[in-house]
Amino acid sequence: MLIVKKFGGTSVANKERMYNVANRCIEDYKKGNDVVVVLSAMGKYTDELIDMAKDMNPNPPKREMDMLFTIGEQMSVALMGMVMNNLGVPAISLNAFQVAMHTTSVYGNARIKRIDSERIRHELDQKKIVIVTGFQGINKFDDYTTLGRGGSDTTAVALAAALNADACEIYTDVDGVYTADPRKVPSARKLNQITYDEMLELATLGAGVLHNRSVELAKKQGVQLVVRSSLNTSEGTIVKEDAKMEKMLVSGVAADKDAARIALIGLKDEPGVAFRLFNHLARHNINVDMILQSVGRDSTKDISFTVAVDNADEAVEIVERHFHEYEKIDVEKNVAKVSIVGAGMMSNAGVAAKMFEALYDEGINIKMISTSEIRVSVLIDEKYTERAMNAVHDKFGLGDNR
Ligand code: ADP
Ligand code: ASP
Ligand code: MG
Repeated sequence: MLIVKKFGGTSVANKERMYNVANRCIEDYKKGNDVVVVLSAMGKYTDELIDMAKDMNPNPPKREMDMLFTIGEQMSVALMGMVMNNLGVPAISLNAFQVAMHTTSVYGNARIKRIDSERIRHELDQKKIVIVTGFQGINKFDDYTTLGRGGSDTTAVALAAALNADACEIYTDVDGVYTADPRKVPSARKLNQITYDEMLELATLGAGVLHNRSVELAKKQGVQLVVRSSLNTSEGTIVKEDAKMEKMLVSGVAADKDAARIALIGLKDEPGVAFRLFNHLARHNINVDMILQSVGRDSTKDISFTVAVDNADEAVEIVERHFHEYEKIDVEKNVAKVSIVGAGMMSNAGVAAKMFEALYDEGINIKMISTSEIRVSVLIDEKYTERAMNAVHDKFGLGDNR
């Protein structure tokens, strides 16, 4: 069997954890398996690198950020190579260049295009454990790129697909995928299985347990994932196409605090206004998430929309510079999006109403709403995020004590 095993930051945070990871990998190796290990930077090292960068330049060039980021993962794999060799097992560490992990050019948010698996195959043939840097790639300029925060999961899935691996295991600091972030919702329950589609929605809506692109790629390439703890041997969660979900309307709750709302008041109520507004934003690569249009006074309309917090100032600037068709603009950065996800919603009325009732019971005001076939999201004041998550989670009976 060929097994890809990915370990996140907390799983390799110190010497003891490094040895723990090494031993788990060696166990599989000694059973005769080919083992490819993907590692993240140790502990919160990536965050520390960001702080160092911002101290030098509050607005560091993205290319230089990626150059800096890659040392985090490179440190982990080199040290792991030393640990495994110290335990008497032949192992070799490889970075994105050595693997030839080709990505698109976009610094900070690159996508994997192609992996040359020859080098890895060659090392596996030499009976070595191969330890690969997560998160990083190379682009057509021979520069380092990174895949976006949490991107090591995507490296693991891409490698599993390229090597046609028999298993892809994502080891982290919780026992698997829960009905909500167990650190925010104490009654959250571990799911034994979840479908790609539901996991993709949850990951995209803020459940940081998996990088959303890793789920997208796993679905596309048919890579079955297991999410489990690096600190115990409990079974974890299987992510796959036709997961047997228990008959639940809603399978999870997620929250995303990385949202800002921009409201434009007093727009002309005529064709073309929304087109011109969002076209300006699109041309400047500003991603817009939720959109709400409402009737204003005296044949005017209002439009509000959300963007990532980091894009809020730029979005306002673009609107002010290029789009003069409004009376007033207003920005709110302390908002959060809370969402419920579940394939069961598709065929059931009243799911959204039940979520709104849970928020009403807590006296939490809803600022915006958006829905899809398997999701309902609301925008609320950021300070109520945890309260809202718990209330909604309880309302749908997702907790341990059902
Ligand atoms: P790693 O460093 O291993 O990649 P992450 O911090 O990226 O770990 O992801 C694991 C964290 O994801 C958990 O510690 C947990 O707080 C958070 N999380 C958010 N939503 C969920 C969820 N639905 N199920 C499990 N964990 C979740
Ligand atoms: N080290 C990177 C990060 O912290 C990648 C990862 O952990 O997946 O975002
Ligand atoms: Mg992660």
